[in-house]
Amino acid sequence: MASIKENIENVNAKIEAACQRSGRKREDVLLLAVSKTIDVPRIKEAVACGLTELGENKVQEIMDKYEPMGNGVKWHLIGHLQTNKVKYIIDKVVLIHSVESFKLAEEISKRAVQKGVTANVLVEVNIADEESKFGVKPDECEQFIKDISILPNIIVKGLMTVAPAVENPEENRKYFRQMKQLLVDINSKKIDNVSMDVLSMGMTGDYEVAIEEGATIVRVGTGIFGARFYPNKNS
Ligand SMILES: *Cc1c(COP(=O)(O)O)cnc(C)c1O
Repeated sequence: MASIKENIENVNAKIEAACQRSGRKREDVLLLAVSKTIDVPRIKEAVACGLTELGENKVQEIMDKYEPMGNGVKWHLIGHLQTNKVKYIIDKVVLIHSVESFKLAEEISKRAVQKGVTANVLVEVNIADEESKFGVKPDECEQFIKDISILPNIIVKGLMTVAPAVENPEENRKYFRQMKQLLVDINSKKIDNVSMDVLSMGMTGDYEVAIEEGATIVRVGTGIFGARFYPNKNS
């Protein structure tokens, strides 16, 4: 089995190649290491290889790993966020990728005001209109952003999507392209306080295609840490 270091070298090489193919700059794409279910010693291996921005999909895991991982890392919340848990992470994360309801945005705003911080957020888009997925519909995205951008202490930095699970990553190219177009379209509306330049899209199976279509953050877990092990999944 390849080491974390080898995995990261491999992913970085593929990111570099995808950037070259599409005429993009390597520094315009952030490799976010998705560390869900991964323990602190292994995450530290990835950090030692230069991956200092970490993504978790559960509030509890950020809380558990926050102190042990120390100051040298930045946390991103990439999974569904329950309103009642916002208060635990509002001053611990640099970006919340998964804002998809007004109620959640209101709570993020309220807690950010209380803590005297600015919350950077992405709007999660259900680009393929999958029933199982969270996210606003593409045609509701502009109005949603208008609604939440007037809340205090919240800044909409861009859009995020979790594309469908597919065999061939090419199947998701159209969705990544639609995401980029949506970002461009909404920016062109010149909504007050909204200038979006972040596109969080692409995971282990499809990050190269996502980069070719304009991703600025790719969220890679398995490709870095190997297959995830979920203890007591059925208990
Ligand atoms: C788990 C997860 C990822 C990473 O998935 P891999 O296929 O392991 O790279 C990316 N984004 C979100 C929202 C996730 O929950």
